[in-house]
Amino acid sequence: MTTEAAYAELVSRLKRAHVLGTVNGLLGWDEQVNLPPDSADLRGEQLALLAELQHAVASDPRVGELLTLLDGQPGELAADQRVVLKCSRRDYDRVVKLPPEFVREKARHSSQTFHAWARCKAAADFAGYVPFLEKQLELAKQEAAYLGYAAAPYDYMIDRHDPGMTAAVIERLFAELTEGLVPFMREIVSSPVKARTGLFRGFPVEQQRAFLHAVTERLGFNYRRGRIDVSLHPFCEGSAADIRMTTRFDKDNPLDSLFSAIHETGHGMYEQGTRLEHQGTPLGQAVGMGVHESQSRLWENQVARSRPFWRFFEPRFRETFSAQLGAVSSDELYRAVNAVRPTLIRVDADEVTYNLHIILRFEIEKRLFAGTLAVQDLPTAWNALAQELLGLTPANDREGVLQDVHWSGGMFGYFPSYCLGNMMASQFWYKVHGDLTGLEEDFARGDFSRLLGWLRRNIHEQGRRHDTQELVKVVTGEPLTPKYLLRYLRERYGPLYRA
Ligand code: ZN
Repeated sequence: MTTEAAYAELVSRLKRAHVLGTVNGLLGWDEQVNLPPDSADLRGEQLALLAELQHAVASDPRVGELLTLLDGQPGELAADQRVVLKCSRRDYDRVVKLPPEFVREKARHSSQTFHAWARCKAAADFAGYVPFLEKQLELAKQEAAYLGYAAAPYDYMIDRHDPGMTAAVIERLFAELTEGLVPFMREIVSSPVKARTGLFRGFPVEQQRAFLHAVTERLGFNYRRGRIDVSLHPFCEGSAADIRMTTRFDKDNPLDSLFSAIHETGHGMYEQGTRLEHQGTPLGQAVGMGVHESQSRLWENQVARSRPFWRFFEPRFRETFSAQLGAVSSDELYRAVNAVRPTLIRVDADEVTYNLHIILRFEIEKRLFAGTLAVQDLPTAWNALAQELLGLTPANDREGVLQDVHWSGGMFGYFPSYCLGNMMASQFWYKVHGDLTGLEEDFARGDFSRLLGWLRRNIHEQGRRHDTQELVKVVTGEPLTPKYLLRYLRERYGPLYRA
């Protein structure tokens, strides 16, 4: 068999697995957007069957044969092909190390734990959740052991979401971030300047929908290869050829639906920016969750909370909602967009305090995987950290340790990605301003194309060519550092909260 034929067969097999994955994703999207309430059982079966088929295609021994054949001919492959080979080797070696019985057991337990979590959260009953979470943690450690990470299971959890990243690197980055962030947050909290609450009342959903559609389209989302719908928790799903994103609407909180939509648009434009001809191969895939979050956060925060952005969109916002915004001044609107107010709930947090929510979760996960914290002692540890970092103590576990869905699905090691994404977004932000002058003037004219073009060339079109830390270094010339995030937060929020 020629190298060329082996490579072509490998790609066609990767694409089959990818297409199955997209069907799985579409069913998952439909589950959260459209599914009738009593149809969940069938959907569970459909998703499980597809996951099994996808696993079978991805772990087919023929893929292993092709990889071995190609591994022996590196000189005959082009640079792009070597990237595909390297990443596919990594994926294949991982997928075949997990016994199918284990994959099934984990899927079954995750589904049970999700329902237990929803029940226990509603009742603020942590004790009822303990046995489910304990088993989920055991399964995670078991999985790490199968993958050769028995001695460092938390590193495996992190690497799964951000390839190449480790707990030790994150610990160093977060320590530096905490040192700068906690005093800055205290300055803001003690500032006599406060954003006014209750500014917004009675914004019709249809008009909100039309407005956010116009905004996200102007940012660069391609609605011919994607759409936006409504779900309880906003998310983005899909790949370049078909992106499904969601937001949620509240008549009295139009900024929530708008910023959720812009956040998901950032995720969607990352996927849409990968090259269509590479779909299904690692060159058409995102690096990991940290880089993904850097894209959503950059559009949501650095761009959409900026003055130039509002210089363009404020007149349009006022035109759409003239009755509702009559008594709101420009300054009040801008302060509302950039309100900082510590809260116990991560998903409600502003961009200054958000990182502290993540640092808290990272501390907890580290201890859980090191075996120095037992699941049953989680609430005590959680509440102590919430007080230390945010200056707030949850009244019950619903607004404390039970608030997030991630652990119920076994998604340990996912939280740090959010904060790494914030750091990367700032680092990219300063770099792009160094590379391109006049971006602010672009934004004030409603033109975001040069920014998007830069992100496409430097990040989106690179697919998985580099791992998380390499990408940051290649793009910005520096290793990942929290100093740009700290600088950005000071530059944006310092003047707003200076008395
Ligand atoms: Zn996100």
